[in-house]
Amino acid sequence: MVEVRGLEKSFGELHVLRGIDLTVDRGSVTVLIGPSGSGKTTLLRCLNSLEIPDAGTVRVDDVELDLTRRPTRAELRRLRATSGMVFQSHQLFPHRTALQNVTEGPLFAQRRPAGEVVLEATALLAKVGLADKADAYPHELSGGQQQRVGIARALALRPRLLLFDEPTSALDPETVGEVLAVMRDLAAEGWTMVVVTHEIRFARQVADHVVFMDGGVVVEEGQPDDVLADPRHERTRRFLQRIL
Ligand code: ADP
Repeated sequence: MVEVRGLEKSFGELHVLRGIDLTVDRGSVTVLIGPSGSGKTTLLRCLNSLEIPDAGTVRVDDVELDLTRRPTRAELRRLRATSGMVFQSHQLFPHRTALQNVTEGPLFAQRRPAGEVVLEATALLAKVGLADKADAYPHELSGGQQQRVGIARALALRPRLLLFDEPTSALDPETVGEVLAVMRDLAAEGWTMVVVTHEIRFARQVADHVVFMDGGVVVEEGQPDDVLADPRHERTRRFLQRIL
């Protein structure tokens, strides 16, 4: 589903991604781990053109961005449309209800018919366990509930790929579980997911593939049992010791 080759990205003098190769199988869950500043978020943002890489190629399904020349806006839009992104903090529209937050993208960005969009959004809210909160405003919802609306909103765009950028790190500990449970359900349904997280237990239970990044490179990757329980590289070992 995803193929990244030789990806490079700098912010001014700061060389953040230094030749990243990444393959994500269709229907699999890939978890990106690594120290703060290692480039995980930047890589995720390059997958849906929130950041434009300097060099390399990004392909998601049949949409490819080849950075040997400057991509056009239409190409960036096509890549953006392949994925739904869930951010660290929900970023919901504060003056719109949960349902309106979910319908916003399909109605106004995708211009799909209202009847169909509302039906689908209602079903998505039910799917994330918020059927009774359709008319609630974000400030009436807990952090975990807001984040679940964020997931429903990403799904409403009918993406082929789901990207999660530290989806639980801004939440109170007691609401982390409900968000991870929704993500677990999505994985079980066969969604292709790339998840940046420090939740090692989630990675161990749900990931098919774990990628450890440090200093803008992939240091080590493989099955969770190998990378998390028996890492080959000293840098991976030290990182896991610090966070476990
Ligand atoms: P991680 O997700 O692993 O913590 P990031 O991808 O967020 O790492 O950041 C990698 C480095 O790039 C950090 O040093 C960060 O400060 C820097 N960085 C990220 N985004 C920008 C930006 N838009 N402008 C300048 N520097 C940035």
